[in-house]
Amino acid sequence: MHECCGIFGVYSPNEDVARLTFFALFALQHRGQESAGIATTDGRKFQLFADMGLVSQVFDEDSLSQLTGPIAIGHSRYSTRGSSRKINVQPMIVGKGSNSIAIAHNGNIVNAEHLHEELYEQGYSFRTSTDTEVIANLIISSPEREWVDKIRYAMHRLQGAYSLVIMTKHNLFGVRDPWGVRPLCMGSVNGDRVIASETCALDHIGADFIKEIEPGEIVSIGANGVDSYLEETSRRASCIFEYIYFARPDSVINGKLLYPARQAMGAQLAVEHPVDADLVMGVPDSATAAGIGYAREANLPFCEGLLKNRYVGRTFIEPDQRIRDLGVKLKFNPLPQMLEGKRLVVVDDSIVRGTTTPKVVNLLRRAGVKEVHMRICAPPIRYPCFFGVDMATRQELIAARKSIPKVRDFIGADSLGYLSIGGLIKAVGLPKDIFCLACFTGDYPMPVQLEMDKLALETLPATGEQRFGIKQR
Ligand code: SF4
Repeated sequence: MHECCGIFGVYSPNEDVARLTFFALFALQHRGQESAGIATTDGRKFQLFADMGLVSQVFDEDSLSQLTGPIAIGHSRYSTRGSSRKINVQPMIVGKGSNSIAIAHNGNIVNAEHLHEELYEQGYSFRTSTDTEVIANLIISSPEREWVDKIRYAMHRLQGAYSLVIMTKHNLFGVRDPWGVRPLCMGSVNGDRVIASETCALDHIGADFIKEIEPGEIVSIGANGVDSYLEETSRRASCIFEYIYFARPDSVINGKLLYPARQAMGAQLAVEHPVDADLVMGVPDSATAAGIGYAREANLPFCEGLLKNRYVGRTFIEPDQRIRDLGVKLKFNPLPQMLEGKRLVVVDDSIVRGTTTPKVVNLLRRAGVKEVHMRICAPPIRYPCFFGVDMATRQELIAARKSIPKVRDFIGADSLGYLSIGGLIKAVGLPKDIFCLACFTGDYPMPVQLEMDKLALETLPATGEQRFGIKQR
């Protein structure tokens, strides 16, 4: 499962904004590893440097030194809509003359195709296959004069998830959709404002946290200071997977530090799915905190049974077949001396397609583990995500096709326990109604009919109950 992007923006006449953006993107690398880009403006023109690869691969001293001016926005990308090609990298610059913007986006627009057709008929041209260009053209097409009103105009038409940083020649804007699906926060460096997907980026550049940008909020930053505008919201739908997996454990979302929330998920799993065992481990790194929480609650020792190669990034060198067959072994290496003959609880964040978990179980068995008891921090994922997470089609989701005992057999574990929705909410410690839980429940927070129709044509699920199990608001 992949998140789609990390975004960052800074307005600072005093700082080297490109360098600051580079280090912030470095901290947001976990949100997207396909491409990275930074755009700046000196008030007259935009400069852009973006390419395929990790942040540290894309930029060097030379490229950063060419990005000048007091405003910068940056992006690290994992593609959900729009293929992984150089043409689709972000930030992108759209428009002409004074009616132009640079934009970077985290999320996914559900009605992008409809808006694309409409804008195309009005004469707007598209260079890319991304929904980000649809958002940009929608803003530019607005009849309003002020940029804030143009952004508002677009917000009234957009359905879906969008956290945005937008740069005009004189202002920086941070925008969060009315549902608040993806996170966005604001901080301050020496009195100048920065905007980031996650608070961990603020920490890395020495910025003080100011606030989370509210669902439906537009923050405008310019020479005259900071202004905020709030659009009406009908329902909040913060993505619960930011807590389980996507965001870094040292980030704060909705006022909650994620590390203890993940520990609480593990503890709750121990309450809901106890088992006689000798040891507990978390699949590194995302389930380590939950593993510790399980071990503590169950009064069992915690061990690091698998070591992760932390330097495995996305590579564009294709492995040969023999290496590919090793699969998960490239990423994880077991410690047989710690594991041999043990009854082991293995805590993981989620099971999506069910392709990785059997490899992990197999690796552990080959290392001599006697019993493998899988415990999962997420409830079964039965519905696809339309809001910026590249999960799978419904047909590919293992829990949409198989019962829990069948999933257990498929992954080769001795037992399998998923955290309940109630248990997950309790662990996060925030009201249930602020969350999107649609991948567990099918209760989407906004209409996704067009997307679902397309998906149904491609991948009709097996039973009537599954086909009509999707609810909408
Ligand atoms: S459907 Fe699932 S992954 Fe997608 S936004 Fe909702 S909770 Fe997050």
